[in-house]
Formats: sequence, structure tokens, C-alpha cells
Amino acid sequence: MSRLRKLQKTKIFLFVLSVFAVPAMDAVAANEVNIYSYRQEFLIRPFLDQFTKDTGIAVNVVYAKKGILQRLKQEGANTPADVVLTAGFSRLKALKDAGLLQPVDSAALKANVPAKYRDPAGEWVGLTLRSRIIAYSKARVADGAIQRYEDLVDPKWKGKICVRTGSHYYNRALVASMVAAHGEAKTEAWVKGLVANFARKPQGNDRAQAKAVFEGVCDIAVMNTYYFGKMKFNKKNPEQRDWAASLQILFPNQGDRGAHVNVSGAGVVKHAKNRDNAVRLLEFLSDGFAQKMYAAQNYEYPVKPGVGWSDEVKSWGDYKADGLALVELFRLGPAAQRIIDRAGWQ
Ligand code: FE
Repeated sequence: MSRLRKLQKTKIFLFVLSVFAVPAMDAVAANEVNIYSYRQEFLIRPFLDQFTKDTGIAVNVVYAKKGILQRLKQEGANTPADVVLTAGFSRLKALKDAGLLQPVDSAALKANVPAKYRDPAGEWVGLTLRSRIIAYSKARVADGAIQRYEDLVDPKWKGKICVRTGSHYYNRALVASMVAAHGEAKTEAWVKGLVANFARKPQGNDRAQAKAVFEGVCDIAVMNTYYFGKMKFNKKNPEQRDWAASLQILFPNQGDRGAHVNVSGAGVVKHAKNRDNAVRLLEFLSDGFAQKMYAAQNYEYPVKPGVGWSDEVKSWGDYKADGLALVELFRLGPAAQRIIDRAGWQ
């Protein structure tokens, strides 16, 4: 066989390979990413569509309020999921602890998301930020009367405070942040003082506390910032607008460590079949366009510094966030829970 003929044969072989092998790989591995989402469709669909437009990667989403962790466990290596999106950060820890996520080492994620809002091992990343604030009755509490979480134990607020159960991870994380600031003994005294000031046995979610302030059951509530926006503009339940209108929101501890914060976030599934697309999606979600939209949709703050806030969130004013890393909140969570149990915040 002449050299030319050999070369031609090789060329034909390569051509055949490129026609059959490359498109087949595209179809299975390069053109889609599958999400299991605790977050609702209205929050994420707008920027997922943009991701597909930008990258050509189709996005398939399964929405579920609960049960995603169990489902991933059952599916094991056969799971179709590549990414999990969570509404709260305790789920990120639970997914990681169950061995359902895998580490991602991405320069873009590291550049976009401050280290305190990421897993040091790279298994999860925070995407939107919210503060756990104090909200008080405009009519019955004077501005400036409360400035710190620590102020809530003042006996003058006896019978005035409404807050959901201490075991909810929003409150457990808040208590963990107090343990980081003050140690366990002082924090236990604080939780006991807080419980002593309750207007009623803890019940309902964050919004139920706002309703209770509106109805005069109590004067002070503790809640995540986004609920204020969600109540203020509520179309489905317009009575919630009145709850929000009765409240003044306050970012605590602005003169010292800052207001406690937590995140929603995401992680790449351990058995992801479309790992590269999954990482690309997380990078997209952590960057300017999606950050701005994701945060604005739910009255949250972008985790990426410098991304603009929505007008409503801006109207609440600038605030200083507690600089504590989320992994520290996880580490101190069990101690916080023991304190909550001993103090009877149930
Ligand atoms: Fe929430």
C-alpha cells in the first residue's frame, strides 16, 4: 500500500469516527444537566432558560419540597440527578453527611462565592444569602429600643416575643452563632432569657410570627429577611401585606459582630453523569446574571460581592453580616441543639 493510500485510509477512519462518536457523546454526556430542586420553579426557571441559551445545555428539573435526600440514597449510582438545589443550608450539610455530593474544585466558584459561604471541601456552595433579623411592631416598640439579639432577654420584653421552635435549623444556626460569639454557658443563659420572654409556646413558621405581631399577640418576632418581602407583595394572600406593614425590620448587632446570616445553595451529585455540565451550571448560578435574578426573585441577597441588590432589598438599608463561616455553624449545631433542649425552646 502506498503512503498516500495509507494516509487516505486513516483520514477516512478519522472522518467516520468524528461522524459517529462525537455526536453520540454529545447526546449522552454533553448536552444536558439534571437538577433535583428543593427550590420552586418560579425562582429558578428564568435563569435556567438563560443558561440553556448561553450554553446549549438543556436543563431538566425535578421539583420536590422534601424527600430528595432519600431518593438520591435509593437511586445510588443509577440516579439521573447531577445537581441538587436547596432552599436552606441544613440540607446541604445533610446531603454531604450522607455522602451524596462530590467535591468541585472550580476557580470561578472560588472567585464568586466568599469562602465563608462554601464548603471547604468543595461539596456545596451557597448561592443566595438571607439574614435572620428582628422584626417589631411599629406601633408598640420604639425605634432603637432593640439593637442586638442579646437585647431580647431584657425582662422588659416579658410576654412580648414570638418565634418558631428552637429546633428549626434557622434558630439552631442563630443559637450556634451565639455560641461562637459568647460560648456555651452565656448562650444557654441567653436562650433561657429568651424563652422567659415568649408571648406563647413556639408555633408556626416565620410568617406566623409576623401575623402574631400584627394581631397583637406579641410585639417582637424573629424571621428571615425574605419573608418580609414575600409578605409585603403577596398576591395570593393579600392579608400578609398588612402583617408586613405593621412591622419594622431591624438588622441586629450592627455595632459589633453583625447580623446572623444563612444561605440557600447547591452541590454536584456524587454519581452525576453530566459532571462538567453540572459544574458549569454552578459557575453560572454563582455569577452576576443569575446571582442578581436568583436573589431578586425571592427578596434575598446575592452571595457574590458587588452584584446589585433588588430595589426592595435595597430599601431595607445596608447591613453588616456576621463573618462566621457556615461550617462553624454546622460544627456548633449539636451544642446549640443541646442548649435549646435544656432551655425548653420547644
Ligand atoms: Fe424559609
